[in-house]
Amino acid sequence: MKKAQALLFGICLLSGIQAQTPQLPTNEHCKVSTTNQSNDPVLIKEREDLEDFTQVFSSKAMPGGNCYVIPVVFHVYGTTQGGMPVNDAIIIDALDKVNMDFHGQNPDFGTVHNSFLGIRGTMADVIFKLAEKDPGGNPTTGIIYHPIAAGFANGSGYDAAIQADAWDNYMYMNVYVMNDLFDDAVTTNSGYAYYPSTSMSNNNLARVVYNGAYLGINCTWEPEFASTLSHEFGHWLNLIHTFDGGCVAPNDNVADTPPCDYLGAPYACHPSASANSPLNCTSNLINAENYMDYCGAGGCYKMFTTGQTARMYAALQVASRQPLWQLSNLTATGLSYLCGIGFNSLADDQKMRLYPNPGDGIFSIEWKDQTPLKKGTVVEVMNTIGQVIFSKIIGEDGSEKLLLDISENPGGIYFVNIYDEGGKQTLKLIKK
Ligand SMILES: [Zn+2]
Repeated sequence: MKKAQALLFGICLLSGIQAQTPQLPTNEHCKVSTTNQSNDPVLIKEREDLEDFTQVFSSKAMPGGNCYVIPVVFHVYGTTQGGMPVNDAIIIDALDKVNMDFHGQNPDFGTVHNSFLGIRGTMADVIFKLAEKDPGGNPTTGIIYHPIAAGFANGSGYDAAIQADAWDNYMYMNVYVMNDLFDDAVTTNSGYAYYPSTSMSNNNLARVVYNGAYLGINCTWEPEFASTLSHEFGHWLNLIHTFDGGCVAPNDNVADTPPCDYLGAPYACHPSASANSPLNCTSNLINAENYMDYCGAGGCYKMFTTGQTARMYAALQVASRQPLWQLSNLTATGLSYLCGIGFNSLADDQKMRLYPNPGDGIFSIEWKDQTPLKKGTVVEVMNTIGQVIFSKIIGEDGSEKLLLDISENPGGIYFVNIYDEGGKQTLKLIKK
């Protein structure tokens, strides 16, 4: 069993990245293992226990049937950061990109190096979704604007300010968007995130801190760099950099990510899907396209591994993360419609029936009582980023059921909206 490293914090510093001018990071590995060790025995013990749990959990088959919707709130400190706009549209796009990366829906998912095609990992049942109710139960966009602030990536000194704006860490994933992460006048650090920690969640200090200049479509100079937000979300779910520890076991505590130390070809992508480079210190290929590497600035980000997704599924079970995706919390945060009781069931309040679910790609939909679908009923299927991939209008009365064929689409969660004279209903569909 791999033992925990005495780390408390996940960190991602990409020094030297300019907002609009491409400038690759220097070959300085993240200092997570040297600058953020904790001497607190309670915290070290929690981290070790988490690692032990993760290794056991990851060795088993992943549990099925869960719906891991994570309510997210973005706190924004300045609507222009690094000369780039930070607004609702930018944030929604950035979060869509994260979900696509986690679901393997990124357009370059199929172009990874041949050696890594077979270990690509996806989390089709995990959705990061902007909260629709605030802590007071009021409607919200999940995006809150504040006056300009700085320094929230620091491990101390800013806790009171962070806590003042935080939403309950057991209900929401808190993302803080600011331009100067450390309040040191350096505005080219991209992001910073913290591993799961009960004490941090107890104190409303769990967080991702991110530079608005590198959100989504703001990465005009290298669109791939937008996946740095996926990298930070990976840290939030306990992923360690693939290069952490270099070639010294257990490095990132994930078995299927090859040791990575960048010897020979720092920060380079694979020249082709069959190229024999870049190589690590044992002359094996590094997984340069891994989101937890530092190759985003080079346009390499394409994948997590199955070992990494197992590690993130484990993180979703622990005390500081598990409460977020519980149905009671999704009800409180306005998101129960994504996973709520009654979806795809035959509960009394459910008029529609969708089956088989999960299914391979062809689904049937019908009224629960098997009365015909009404003329004019609109049925549409959306993916998790809101794109309509199927749409049909019932042309005549009497259709007993409708076949939905989405077999050409990737596996994952979809939503079926049915509009009729009774209003709108939404069903969740899982394509295997
Ligand atoms: Zn990082």
